[in-house]
Amino acid sequence: MLIYNTYTREKEEFKPIEENKVKMYICGPTVYNYIHIGNARPVLFFDLVHRYFKYLGYEVEFVSNVTDVDDKIINRAIEEEVTEAEIAEKYLNYFLECNQLLNALPFTSMPKVTENMDEMIQFIHELVERGFAYAVDGDVYFRIDKVREYGQLSGKKIEELEVGARIAEDSKKENPLDFVLWKKTDKGITWDSPWGAGRPGWHTECVVMIGKEFGGKIDIHGGGTDLQFPHHENEIAQSICMNGHSLANYWMHVGRLGLNNEKMSKSLGNVINVKDLIEAIDANAFRLFMLSVHYRQPINYTEENIQLAVKEWQKIKSTFEQLHLKLDLAEALDVEGEVVPEIENLMQQFTLALEDDFNTSNAITSLYGVIKEINKMTRAKASDAACKYALMTLQNMAYIFGFDLSKKRLTLEERELMKAWEEARKAKDFKKADELRAQLQALNVL
Ligand SMILES: [Zn+2]
Repeated sequence: MLIYNTYTREKEEFKPIEENKVKMYICGPTVYNYIHIGNARPVLFFDLVHRYFKYLGYEVEFVSNVTDVDDKIINRAIEEEVTEAEIAEKYLNYFLECNQLLNALPFTSMPKVTENMDEMIQFIHELVERGFAYAVDGDVYFRIDKVREYGQLSGKKIEELEVGARIAEDSKKENPLDFVLWKKTDKGITWDSPWGAGRPGWHTECVVMIGKEFGGKIDIHGGGTDLQFPHHENEIAQSICMNGHSLANYWMHVGRLGLNNEKMSKSLGNVINVKDLIEAIDANAFRLFMLSVHYRQPINYTEENIQLAVKEWQKIKSTFEQLHLKLDLAEALDVEGEVVPEIENLMQQFTLALEDDFNTSNAITSLYGVIKEINKMTRAKASDAACKYALMTLQNMAYIFGFDLSKKRLTLEERELMKAWEEARKAKDFKKADELRAQLQALNVL
């Protein structure tokens, strides 16, 4: 399998650190607001990665942190006159609810910053002890000139960054690029530390969580493109100093989502919240839209694009349901499948696309190919065994893409109704046939 590694800017063959195991981490949400559909892109993409590795038989350990202390959370708590913990809990619950509605597999664990404060302080303390960081007036900064590789992930040159940073130079820092590890503050919630009361900066938490959860280097570290600099660059810098490695073997970054070709952001006021959208349209259609573009490319949300996905999803769903019903009526849902070469070939193309740096847009083309084949097979009255094979292939593809394709088996009563409907049609008793059809639709059979 090839994965594009942002750190080396090359597609590389995936080799797990431990055989049959994948260790993955993504930077999680800062829980101060409702997540919008742009925030959902990394969630959905890495869920597909998680699912595909599981499909291949890997054991996947997938961790995401929760940033539950941050200026934005503190400001929100002051605004709403509640505690930071209440704000964090409210929006974390919203995030988890959205993940569930989106049919994302649960994370192996979701460590919170506030529950790992001792480890964070200890980590920063050690950086200071070893000369990689320094304390000034209750703040602690990281010395970026201790890291030769600084800028490698984001492709930035230190000299160029320094020119930009000087404009906003902070006199407390030795170098304007040094970043904050611990912030002295008396605003909002604070913790005691060797440097006085304050709270940690954002860049340390992921390094500490990865160390704690995995005990060393991981396979894949993911996030949105906007996290490459400075967040991921700063994670790497700390890890190189403390652990002597760059944290992860593969760094994967997901492109932005735009709304009508504009950046979607809370400050521009053009956000669509995840729950609002999936209450309006099927969560599966949203997934189909989000995965229809290669993850490294930007994706553009427009009403037209999403409506197209809704239509395409309907086609997939109804093909599946008709095939399922046909097999169910023939009492053939449990027959042994018999390989259909065209479909086998499409499944091969599907996996080849995913093995090539998760090319989901090509994989979706193969999925549409299967839909077409199934419709052909139905017209040609293919055998139950061939239909069963097609059904299984479609279900495997749906599992990997995280689509919820399921249908209950017919009950005895429903089976009888189906038979009666068929007989009424044969007898050209259209009035009765219509009545039965309505009953079957009400039962969700048709
Ligand atoms: Zn992070």
